[in-house]
Amino acid sequence: IGPLSPHPEPGERDDEATLRPRRLTEFVGQSRVREQLELVLEGARRRGSPPDHVLLSGPPGLGKTSLAMIIAAELGSALRVTSGPALERAGDLAAMLSNLAEGDVLFIDEIHRIARPAEEMLYLAMEDFRVDVVVGKGPGATSIPLEVAPFTLVGATTRSGALTGPLRDRFGFTAHMEFYSSGDLERVLRRSATILGVDLRPDGAVEVARRSRGTPRIANRLLRRVRDYAEVRADGAVTRDIARAALAVYDVDELGLDRLDRAVLGALVRTFGGGPVGVSTLAVAVGEEPATVEEVCEPYLVRAGMLARTPRGRVATAAAWRHLGMEPPAQAPG
Ligand code: ADP
Repeated sequence: IGPLSPHPEPGERDDEATLRPRRLTEFVGQSRVREQLELVLEGARRRGSPPDHVLLSGPPGLGKTSLAMIIAAELGSALRVTSGPALERAGDLAAMLSNLAEGDVLFIDEIHRIARPAEEMLYLAMEDFRVDVVVGKGPGATSIPLEVAPFTLVGATTRSGALTGPLRDRFGFTAHMEFYSSGDLERVLRRSATILGVDLRPDGAVEVARRSRGTPRIANRLLRRVRDYAEVRADGAVTRDIARAALAVYDVDELGLDRLDRAVLGALVRTFGGGPVGVSTLAVAVGEEPATVEEVCEPYLVRAGMLARTPRGRVATAAAWRHLGMEPPAQAPG
C-alpha cells in the first residue's frame, strides 16, 4: 500500500539485510527491551544453558526479526527460521525440531498463525524438549516419543492477544516492542546513511524521522527514496528542504500519513460526521480490507492522536478535523 507500509516491499529484502543491526549494541532504541534481553542472555551464558524462550510482540517493522538474529549471534548459536503459516501440520514442526542441535535458536515468525496440532506439539517441545510423533491412524495409531535437543524458541507476533494462553505461558520472557521516538529514528537513519554512503544532514534526518511512523523499516525506505531524489534533482545532500520535496512526490505528508490514512480520516469525518463508526464500515468506505485498516492504518492514526477507539466505534479527534483543514465539532475528542 505504498511507501509507508510497515511490511517489506518486494525486492527490499537485500537492502534490509545490509542495514540490519547484527549485535545488541548496534540495535537502536527500545532500551528497556535491550536491557532485559541483555540480562536474560548473560544469565544463560553464565549458567551455560540455553536461555528461556522469548516472545517478541509489536507492530511490523520494529525489529523483531533483527532481534531474533541478534539473540542467536550473541549466544554464538545457529538460527533456524520458520513461520506460523508454514507450520500447517504437526509433522512440519516435528521435522524442524528433530533437526535442531543443542543450543540452536528456533525463530517462528507470526507465531499466532500456527495451526492447532503443531501448537500442541510445541507445548511439549518447549517444556520438556521432546515431542510425541503419532504414527498411523485410527485405533492402530501409536505415539512415539522423540527427544529434541535443548533449544531456545524465539516467537514473534504482531497480535499477542491472538496467542492462546497455554502458548503465551510457556515463554519465560516477553518483550513488548513500542513505536520508536523521533530521536531514535534519527539514530537509525544516521546509522543507515553511514552504511549506504548517503550525505544525510541533521535537519534532513529530523524531517525523515518525523514522517516514518515510529517504524525503522519505513525510515530506511524513506531514506532510499529521498536519496534518489537528492542525487537526481540536487547535489546528493539530504537536507530538510530536499526531504520535504522528495516526500511530497511520494504523497507522504507532514505527519507520515499516506493516501490511505487520509482516505480513512476523510471518510470518517466527511461521510460519517466524525463517527463513531465500525472499522469494517470504514474499510468498505475506502475500498480496503478491514485487516489492513485495522492493523496498518489504525495503530499509527491512534498514536498520532488522530483517531480514538471507543466501544461504539472509531471517532475522529479534533486534531484529525484540523489536519483535514476543517473546524472540529464541539463533541470531537481532543
Ligand atoms: P520486524 O521483524 O519487526 O518486522 P525487522 O527486524 O525485519 O522487523 O526490521 C526491519 C528493518 O528495520 C531491519 O532490516 C533493520 O534494517 C531496521 N531496524 C529495525 N529495528 C532496528 C533497530 N533497532 N536499529 C536499527 N535498525 C533497525
